[in-house]
Amino acid sequence: MHKYKKSLGQHFLVDKNFVYKAIEGANLKEDDKVLEIGLGKGILTEELCKRAKKVYVIEIDKNLESFANSLINKYKNLNIIWDDALKVNLKEIDYNKVVANLPYQISSPITFKLLDRGFDLSVLMYQLEFAKRMIAKEGTKDYGRLSVSLQAQANAEILCKVPPSAFYPRPKVWSALVKIEPHNKYKILNKEFFNNLVRGAFQHRNKFLKKALILSSSELGLSREELKKILEDIEDKTLEKKVFKVSVEEFVNLSNKLYEYIKERNRK
Ligand code: SAM
Repeated sequence: MHKYKKSLGQHFLVDKNFVYKAIEGANLKEDDKVLEIGLGKGILTEELCKRAKKVYVIEIDKNLESFANSLINKYKNLNIIWDDALKVNLKEIDYNKVVANLPYQISSPITFKLLDRGFDLSVLMYQLEFAKRMIAKEGTKDYGRLSVSLQAQANAEILCKVPPSAFYPRPKVWSALVKIEPHNKYKILNKEFFNNLVRGAFQHRNKFLKKALILSSSELGLSREELKKILEDIEDKTLEKKVFKVSVEEFVNLSNKLYEYIKERNRK
C-alpha cells in the first residue's frame, strides 16, 4: 500500500476524464516528446506513452518505483528521472511539450523554470486560485506579479476546472488545467531587472506606480532619492497609473526604458 505524502503534493488523479482533457489540450502528435513532472501511480504517464514518441517523467519519490517498473516494462518510450524537478537541468532533456498534474507546492518555481528552458506548449494542473492569478487581466483583483511575469512570456488559458473528487486523496480546494503557450510578443531587455521591477511594484499594488517603485527602490538596487530623480527625468505616463491597472505591455516598456536609462547613466 502506498503511503501518500502530503508534503509532496501527492493528490493522484483518479478521474480519467481529466487525463483525457489534459491530453486533448496538449494536442499530442506521434513525434512529440513530452515531459511530465510527478509520476504518481502513472495514470497520466500511461496515456502519454500511448500517444507520444518519448515521455520523460521526473519523480522525487522512490517509493513509487513499483508503479514505474510496470510501465517501463510495457512502454519502451518511457524514461523516468528520479530527482527533484527543481534541481534537474531541463536543458539536458529533449522534449517539446509538458503535460503534468503538478505538485502544488512547486507551482510557481517549476512554471518559471519550464519557461526559462522553453517549450512549444504545456498543459499543467494548478490550484484554481493560482490558475486565476495566472490568467488575470489588469484592473482585476487577481491581477498581480504572477500574471505579469507569466503573461510577459506566454499566453495562458484555463481549459477546465477540476473538482476535489477527481483526486485521491482529495485536496481541500478546486484545481484547474491550464494551457500555456510561450509567445514572443515582447522584447524584455533584462529579465532579472523586469522581474525585480514587477515584484517591487506589486509590494504596493494599490499605490501609484511611481510611488510604489520609490518605496521598493531597493529591489532595483537604488536608493529612494536616486530612483525618484530617475523617474522624474523619465516622465513616463505609466508611472501615473495605479499598479494593479498597469498592463503587461506597459510594464515591459517601462522596464526597458528604465533599464536603458540606468545603463546609460552608469556608463557616464
Ligand atoms: N501524475 C500523477 C497523477 O496525476 O496522479 C501524480 C500527480 S501528484 C499531484 C504530484 C507528483 O509529483 C507526486 O507523485 C509527487 O511525489 C511528485 N513530486 C512532488 N514534488 C516533486 C518534485 N520536487 N520533483 C519531482 N516530483 C515531485
